[in-house]
Amino acid sequence: MNKSKIRVIVILGEILVIGILALVILLPGSSGSSADTDVKSKVKAAVKAGDAEYLADEDAGVASVEEELAELERLEAERLKREEEERLEAERLRLEEEEKAKAAAMSLGAEEEAALKAAMYDYDAAIELLQGIPEYETRDDVKATVKEYEAARDKLVKWEDNTQISHLFVHSLIVDTARAFRKGSSQPVGYNRYMTTVGEFKLILQSLYDKGYVLVSMHDIAERYVGEDGVEKLRKKPIYLPEGKTPFVLSQDDVNYYAYMDNDGFADRLVIGDDGIPTCKYIEADGTVSYGEYDVLPIVDNFLKEHPDFSYRGAKGILAVTGYEGALGYDTGWHMYDLDNPEEAAKLKAEQDAAKAVADAIKADGWEFASHSYTHTDMKTNSFDKVVYDTDKWEREVEPILGETDLYIYPFGSDICDWKGYKGDKYEYLKKAGFWYFCNVDASRYWIQITDNYMRMGRINADGERMMKTPQKLDYFFDSASILDKSRPAL
Ligand SMILES: [Zn+2]
Repeated sequence: MNKSKIRVIVILGEILVIGILALVILLPGSSGSSADTDVKSKVKAAVKAGDAEYLADEDAGVASVEEELAELERLEAERLKREEEERLEAERLRLEEEEKAKAAAMSLGAEEEAALKAAMYDYDAAIELLQGIPEYETRDDVKATVKEYEAARDKLVKWEDNTQISHLFVHSLIVDTARAFRKGSSQPVGYNRYMTTVGEFKLILQSLYDKGYVLVSMHDIAERYVGEDGVEKLRKKPIYLPEGKTPFVLSQDDVNYYAYMDNDGFADRLVIGDDGIPTCKYIEADGTVSYGEYDVLPIVDNFLKEHPDFSYRGAKGILAVTGYEGALGYDTGWHMYDLDNPEEAAKLKAEQDAAKAVADAIKADGWEFASHSYTHTDMKTNSFDKVVYDTDKWEREVEPILGETDLYIYPFGSDICDWKGYKGDKYEYLKKAGFWYFCNVDASRYWIQITDNYMRMGRINADGERMMKTPQKLDYFFDSASILDKSRPAL
């Protein structure tokens, strides 16, 4: 045999061997031998491992970005937290400062208020305010003031006789005498007789103050209380003033600013000023509107700012109001509108709301209201039915605006009974309507009755008539000759 034949045989043999080997290896694979499974799972595992490796690589990338983000987030959160903490701290400091300022203001406010109360002879209230200051224990200056107030209080003298207290009254004040006394005015003579001018009134206040007079309320003279028998009664209330001071009551009638007074130089109405304190609206001759001291209320208020010792415990005056032409300068009379017409009814409501707001401000300012009847008719000569009709109307139309009052000031000063005392149906009716304090007009220096059931007080008119005709009656209070307005015509 030649070499190439042998080579072919060898190759064929090798092929055969390989073939057999291949069979040996591959056949069990198709039959699912364990060796084959091992290989497969090994390959699978390898792929998986690769994947895992791949995924692990991928994760590593994501993880590092996320870590970075998380770190950023953490820093951001930290920054926000710090900022929030700083904000809260600043807020806390601000509130602390505010509290301190408030406490200081309150202390200062309390001190100022106490000083005002003390100036008005209400030392107990003043002392209580001062002792309520948070830093009272460490404030020697405040303690010294308390000692001062205690000493001043101990020097006060009880007013000897509560039936010896004067009561002066005026009507709306004349602002512009030229307009009031001119020929074309509604009633130049009436104004001259029954009215007082702004200038005169200011001088009267000054004179009263100089003579030691101090404003008191009728409620300071006598107080209502519930007796042991459960029945409400009235009794004298002690008034404590410094030696030399004399209590007196001030009132103003017809605080209505009636239509007939328009253009005659009187205030137009009471309003609430920009500072929330009541004041007057006044219309000048040329139509210009101004606000300020055009009637009793703002004049007394301003006088008291200068002289708080002119008031006993904050007492001011009594404003007596009728209803037939509204109240305080507002058209609140029901008969002034056609109430079946919704538009008209709305107008009445608006006037009532405005008047009530002013009335509330007036009361908050320390003034009191009195009924001056609804119709301004003579309660002495009126029949019982007329008194009932009038009183019911006042309660229906005026009381909702002014609020309840136990003060009654008779129109024309005309009292329902004589000096002997109250009895009869008119009195019973007025009493049932809630009135306890009644004022007539009496030219005596003082005239007061206080019983278990009522107080009656005479008043003196400080007007043109009195100042010109019987000025001596006013000598206790002021010198009419030096007060009378030079522009008044002779009476
Ligand atoms: Zn009147």
